Amino acid sequence: MNVLLNTIPLENWLSTSSLPLVIAGPCSAESEEQVMQTAGELAKIPMVRVFRAGLWKPRTRPGEFEGVGDKGLKWLVRVKQETGLLVTTEVASPFHVEKALTSGIDMVWLGARTVVNPFSVQEIGEALKGSDIPVLVKNPLNPDLTTWMGALERINRNGIRKLAAIHRGFSYYKHSPYRNDPMWEIPIELKRLCPELPVIVDPSHICGNYDLLLPISQRAIDLEMNGLMIESHIRPQEALTDRQQQITPDRLAGLLGRLILRNPVGNDEFQNQLEKLRSEIDKIDQQLIDIITQRMAIVDQIGTYKKENKITILQLKRWNQIFRERLESGLEHGLSRDFIMKLLEAVHEESIQRQINVMNKKD
Ligand code: PEP
Ligand code: MN
Repeated sequence: MNVLLNTIPLENWLSTSSLPLVIAGPCSAESEEQVMQTAGELAKIPMVRVFRAGLWKPRTRPGEFEGVGDKGLKWLVRVKQETGLLVTTEVASPFHVEKALTSGIDMVWLGARTVVNPFSVQEIGEALKGSDIPVLVKNPLNPDLTTWMGALERINRNGIRKLAAIHRGFSYYKHSPYRNDPMWEIPIELKRLCPELPVIVDPSHICGNYDLLLPISQRAIDLEMNGLMIESHIRPQEALTDRQQQITPDRLAGLLGRLILRNPVGNDEFQNQLEKLRSEIDKIDQQLIDIITQRMAIVDQIGTYKKENKITILQLKRWNQIFRERLESGLEHGLSRDFIMKLLEAVHEESIQRQINVMNKKD
């Protein structure tokens, strides 16, 4: 897949001291008091840099709480002025974009339900044109990397260069402990294809439950993701949306404090030691290939010999004996049964194939 994003590195639009970027705040803004109290507590946590709150809420059924709408904009502006936190909210239409831009919201995000629809993303992109507001794009509901990247490209092509992705998990038909399965291979592939693009992980919407937040947040850090978006409410049990997954600012501080932040590069001594070990691995891998090549050359000789003597290729008795002996020896050396079996089977398959080739070769 060919993806061309023209983005500005995260460090250039946020101070590096606030990395990994932590965005926290309630799922929904519910009242001025709830917003101000939550923000006041969150601002005391040094790692929290951005305050989130949904104003226009995408709800599955009509009649549920659909957010406070425009009137919450001034609460967010108050948060910004009184706490110094940056503020962000979800936009799902050009109208939301215009409101966010004119009221001074610092960044906006596109939600999972919006990203599935290229028409909506296009309209939002056009409404954002000409502004230099940072935009965060959540993954679509379904596990579809192309749609996610398509949305990022659409926003980017409208001149938005302060861009990041948010990984909020994917809906999945199989039973899973998560509300939205993390399927880490998808954000990892996104990072491989777009190495400059920051990826922020949203453990709240992945987990759907506060119990699982810590291991998912740690996993995000270990996978070198660039930030976390975690829902936090001053009184989670009273929350009007996503009650199960919100935590108090106090608990959030505890969670962030327990995270082990790893250094992706490490200091010189660490780096040297790592390089030494890696070069040993490189050598051993090369030896493995040499040894397998030697083995296959002997296999070819045996193939020729069998052909001359009109003997069948597959010698089951011999194969069973090899299998038993090698398995035993591998187990003695602490290799797993599953791994040795896969390895032996791959070697055996390749050997049989080479002998078939020898047999088929015209003399
Ligand atoms: C949210 O962030 O509250 C939200 C609605 O998220 P998502 O679009 O990921 O479901
Ligand atoms: Mn939510």
